[in-house]
Amino acid sequence: MNEFDIIKHYFNVHHHRKDVVMGPGDDCAILQVPANTLLAVSTDTLVSGVHFFADMDPEALGHKALAVNLSDLAAMGADPCWVSLALTLPEVDHDWVTQFCAGFFELAEYYNVALVGGDMTKGPLSITVTVHGTLPEGKGLLRSGAQAGDAIYVTGTLGDAALGLQQVLGKVSVPDEHQEFVRFKFEHPHPRILVGQALRDIASSALDLSDGLLGDLAHICRASGLRAQLEVEHLPLSDAMHASVSQEQGWELALSGGDDYELCFTVPELHRGQLDIALGHCGVKFTQVGRMFAGEPSVELVHNDEPYQITGQSWDHFR
Ligand code: ADP
Ligand code: MG
Repeated sequence: MNEFDIIKHYFNVHHHRKDVVMGPGDDCAILQVPANTLLAVSTDTLVSGVHFFADMDPEALGHKALAVNLSDLAAMGADPCWVSLALTLPEVDHDWVTQFCAGFFELAEYYNVALVGGDMTKGPLSITVTVHGTLPEGKGLLRSGAQAGDAIYVTGTLGDAALGLQQVLGKVSVPDEHQEFVRFKFEHPHPRILVGQALRDIASSALDLSDGLLGDLAHICRASGLRAQLEVEHLPLSDAMHASVSQEQGWELALSGGDDYELCFTVPELHRGQLDIALGHCGVKFTQVGRMFAGEPSVELVHNDEPYQITGQSWDHFR
């Protein structure tokens, strides 16, 4: 197979979108953007040995490469539409590419996202995905919109992907009955698209959690010019987390562990009553973990109203 056969065979798959005027095969994709609509665009690269283990299950990798990108659209409140895929492969291994595509297209079909183009090169394994979504004019969940007094929420449970990584590295032992859950959270993050869309008229700011709540919330603080206070006792931890590490270690993983791809968002008092109904149909749990205050941009931790610090040494326990 030459390069063009490969593209035709694996990547020129059927989809149902009528807004793709030209998909893979020409010099550019041509896409019909509806009137009064804004385009939301985001790119993420996953590099072998940096973002994933070289022997990672290709199906999970295909899923994750798209999932982390869709997560950015979710954090903006955008509707996903189109995606392009730039693949750098050391060789064309039929089984590997087939499984990669299975993971990628399963998620793409779930959200009706069309693959409209990309690139293929030979070299060390690396995957770059660019997603395109739409937003109604004037909408979009920016990091800069938080106001003093807003409540801070997160979706799902936090730290599970980091726990999964610790388990893979052999630094934590997760009880048998929780192993599958933890591994799944680590390899199969699910982008919170429906939550992001539902929050469009409710949240004042949002972002997705890729590097850990502590660091990611600091972005909202800086962009909004506010101080955040997090109540560690309210951090949502999974049963797997409780069964595997101490509460303090759980909080540390929830605060500084990456790869969760949950959403963190702020909600003004005025809109809090709408949250239950708006998010009710998404089937995703959400938890208030703190509040925004006027002050120098920073994230402060409290435990039962007393200042709290993560030791920074917790990782030693895992070693
Ligand atoms: P060019 O040399 O003009 O950049 P390419 O040879 O890179 O074109 O790609 C040919 C066509 O195949 C383009 O339409 C491109 O978008 C598409 N394509 C290349 N790689 C992929 C891929 N991994 N997935 C989907 N489409 C792809
Ligand atoms: Mg090209």
